Amino acid sequence: MSVVSHAVRFSAPPADARGRAPLIGLSLSRLQETLAAHGLPAFRAKQVWHWMYQRGVQDFVDMANLPRDMRQLLSEKYSIERPKVMTEQRSSDGTIKWLLSLSDGQQVETVFIPEARRGTLCVSSQVGCTLTCKFCHTGTQPLVRNLGAHEILQQIMYARDVLSEWPQSGETHSAEGRDLTNIVMMGMGEPLYNYDNVAQALKICMDADGLAISKRRITLSTSGVVPLIRRCGEELGVNLAISLHATTDEQRSEIMPINNKYPLAELLEACRTYPGVSDIRRITFEYVMLQGVNDTDEDAKRLAVLLRDMPCKVNIIPFNGWEGSGFECSAEERISSFARLLEKAGYDAPVRKPRGRDILAACGQLKSASVRAKKTVDSERTIDE
Ligand code: SAH
Ligand code: SF4
Repeated sequence: MSVVSHAVRFSAPPADARGRAPLIGLSLSRLQETLAAHGLPAFRAKQVWHWMYQRGVQDFVDMANLPRDMRQLLSEKYSIERPKVMTEQRSSDGTIKWLLSLSDGQQVETVFIPEARRGTLCVSSQVGCTLTCKFCHTGTQPLVRNLGAHEILQQIMYARDVLSEWPQSGETHSAEGRDLTNIVMMGMGEPLYNYDNVAQALKICMDADGLAISKRRITLSTSGVVPLIRRCGEELGVNLAISLHATTDEQRSEIMPINNKYPLAELLEACRTYPGVSDIRRITFEYVMLQGVNDTDEDAKRLAVLLRDMPCKVNIIPFNGWEGSGFECSAEERISSFARLLEKAGYDAPVRKPRGRDILAACGQLKSASVRAKKTVDSERTIDE
């Protein structure tokens, strides 16, 4: 299936159960067109935009400078609500995981990871995933559907609600003093297989008049959808992270079937030529440590050769276990030896501290419980790989 037909087939519903279309996620010009269809002038769209993205308003009634009949009309035809929260889990390390229910009942997980000087929100891009990386819990949940741009933004806006980060009237709309400072597209799903919606959402996220989170603070992680990597750099300019996890095609294809379609040489070439890549804007390679699979000193040496001359760092991720995975995390000494070899070869190779493991919120542990809907899709599922 082509990337385009894939996107259409698995798209988000255009309206909620009450027939109301989402206004969140439309570009300002689309919002202006939408409101113009009701005879409303462009400045009204700007006011709505301001209330949504700079004040976090969730009900048209609270858009105080709009005429009453306009608020009434918007409430009937459109929605700016947040998803329903099914559960909130707080880890002993401060990580928070929310299971959010979307307008059609599908569910996604979003994770907030507070750190000393920053707070990162791990955002989902799909319900499930078409890819079946063997070590990933999300990969066991086949793709149900893509998230719409509004559903990607709603995760960020919901986190801002919980963290009380919307400026009050009179306060400036700026990044100063926020707890939620960084976004990583590392939740459920492959963001480049839902490129249009992810791009649309991130543009609003980066817009100084939108959610105002700088592109320097946004990272998109991909398993390696080579044809879309350049476009992502040109159009969005966000930081790129690559789920590499292996050093030969044979080894990588075994644990990440996407490698059969886009093998290592093509993937690394796309990274070398990623727009804007430099020593200041390095690519991150993620490398999950799987005992006896990809964790030998030879693997580390091969990795050092593969990445030679690439402005990059390697994030070494201890494997986060889940029931039935069939993998074990490499022993601590093995991980240190692997990291040391990379460092000796001149790479930054921090070992990522697992966060939220006790609430299954760590990398690769996300999975929603939308089993019923998934079964329907399973029976007719076709995959690009
Ligand atoms: N689909 C995208 C983004 C989501 S996965 C991608 O694959 O890059 C986010 C990161 O978690 C990826 O690097 C992924 O390879 C890693 N990951 C998946 N399962 C994991 C596990 N069980 N333990 C540790 N990291 C895992
Ligand atoms: Fe999908 Fe990423 Fe998990 Fe692979 S690692 S199955 S691409 S979410």
